[in-house]
Amino acid sequence: MAAKITDICIACGACIDECPVEAIVDDSENPTGAETYYVFADKCVECVGHHSSPACIEACPTEGCIVLGA
Ligand code: SF4
Ligand code: SF4
Repeated sequence: MAAKITDICIACGACIDECPVEAIVDDSENPTGAETYYVFADKCVECVGHHSSPACIEACPTEGCIVLGA
């Protein structure tokens, strides 16, 4: 399980600096070529932020954009 950024990402940038392990890259570095931010699943540690959910999910203004998946 790791965080996954879905295609409704608006590339706002709010999540990237919140990740404690630098697992998130911006759209210019997304290996899939999509114009969204991207989580490297092998780096994500499913961290817990200030409100008991992953820091990136807490930071993201787009409801449902980041999900915990396989
Ligand atoms: S869950 Fe935590 S470790 Fe994983 S991408 Fe989000 S902020 Fe980074
Ligand atoms: S905070 Fe959400 S909408 Fe903004 S770049 Fe990150 S995943 Fe995309």
